[in-house]
Amino acid sequence: MKGLLTTPLRVDPTAFAGDKVAFFRYGAVGERVLISNDTGEWAMLSPQQFDAFYQGKLEEADPLTVELGEKGFLRASLDLESMSAKIRRKKAFLRSGGPHLHVVVATLRCNQACRYCHASRTDMDRVDTDMTLDTAKAVVDFAFQSPSSILNFEFQGGEPTANFEVIRFFIGYAKEKNRYENKELIFSMVTNMTLMTEEKMNFLLDEGVMLCTSLDGPKDLHDYNRGLTGSKVGTYDQVDHWVNRINAEYVRRGMDPNLYHVDALMTTTRASLGRGREIVDEYVRRGCRSIHLRPLNPFGFAVNTWKQIGYTMEEFLNFYRDAADYILELNLQGVQIQERMASIFLTRLLTPDDPNYTDCRSPVGSGTATLAYSFDGSIYTCDEGRMLGHMGNDFFKLGDVRGSAWKDVAHHPTVKAVALASINDALPACSNCVYKPSCGIQPLHNFMFDGDLFGQRPRSRKCQEFFGEQSWIFQRLAADTDGRIERIFRRWTIQRPRTTSSSSEGSA
Ligand code: SF4
Repeated sequence: MKGLLTTPLRVDPTAFAGDKVAFFRYGAVGERVLISNDTGEWAMLSPQQFDAFYQGKLEEADPLTVELGEKGFLRASLDLESMSAKIRRKKAFLRSGGPHLHVVVATLRCNQACRYCHASRTDMDRVDTDMTLDTAKAVVDFAFQSPSSILNFEFQGGEPTANFEVIRFFIGYAKEKNRYENKELIFSMVTNMTLMTEEKMNFLLDEGVMLCTSLDGPKDLHDYNRGLTGSKVGTYDQVDHWVNRINAEYVRRGMDPNLYHVDALMTTTRASLGRGREIVDEYVRRGCRSIHLRPLNPFGFAVNTWKQIGYTMEEFLNFYRDAADYILELNLQGVQIQERMASIFLTRLLTPDDPNYTDCRSPVGSGTATLAYSFDGSIYTCDEGRMLGHMGNDFFKLGDVRGSAWKDVAHHPTVKAVALASINDALPACSNCVYKPSCGIQPLHNFMFDGDLFGQRPRSRKCQEFFGEQSWIFQRLAADTDGRIERIFRRWTIQRPRTTSSSSEGSA
């Protein structure tokens, strides 16, 4: 990973035509030169084209002059009104009014003992780590104070279905309250499926709760990562049963399977390395249209097991590129599956919109787009903040649903600090990185790995991940001689900006 952000490009500053060329950033992608600007526009040039652009020597009749002019790279044709409109549209999430994603930890109890459990689970007899009905009511009352017109309650744990009484009450109370509030209510749940029953399934589907589970790959790999507490028994068979059962129930109820199906999250451990293609095949086999190739995060039990299941970011990126290339190969054969992180970057790169993925944004959504509530009513900036809280560090705690005023939480100094630390226009290395317009910052990861909110790019792990993933996209576009890859990438873009983005760090 050494020299990750260095570029082999050498430019002669004395030849720069500052009177002709508008502000841009640049970097090398193989033999090509990528340029980008703050409106999110970009272009890939040959070295000769780049020299002509940089030195102000592009011919007026050259089609490239027209393209770069329209994209705001040439001073002579700058249209500041249209550029500011583009930026306003890209940053529309800033006008959404307040936190819309509310992660609710119904309990910390869980019957699984995953090797990387990010949630610091407790044993099934620890009912003291269940949310009570009183706390659930206080969480709903607090969350409804958000000015956002959309509230997405995402139930997590532990295993949320272990405290199903609170789930039932929470949904019923929120819906009742909403008869007077008239917000758009969305419920989702990240569940390991092992405590699912027909009765619970019917309740969740009747109430319109979107379900997401964890699936780490083929049976042996999933079972290695995700076993039941106190035994060597893995949980693949139960996940397999319930995903099929619930998807069949959606169909039986006449619901569009493209919109209604169980989503799955995978977490990459050392055991996954080299098995990316098998993991993708597992997702394709069960009809998934999307897979999120997620690296391990330094939260919860993963801190202690890192030596056993962790890896370097370079190893992860090798895994990512291999699996993502395979996904592209499948797409070229007509199979519809996409990689989720690539979809997020591609939506920024190929459409005028931002997908509002709160975990990779500038500024990040922690505290401004998301809040997380622990079982005891503690309020955190986001799911990762409460994970850190469960590890004994309340740096990201903002208050308590019973004692805190909404305005004190919304204006909490930690919310401001996290926002400031994630505006990449102002961060060293990001400010002149060619990927700045499409990238995002995760101050919580910086805090975990580097000990402060800002971190040091290019050394910070999330920077290396995002840089590597975006480089993969541009390398594939640079080699795309007949436009087939770009057509596939356009299909991967998220058509509607996600005002209801759910957390990527689900811990089921
Ligand atoms: S975090 Fe993103 S924008 Fe910042 S230096 Fe890294 S890759 Fe570039």
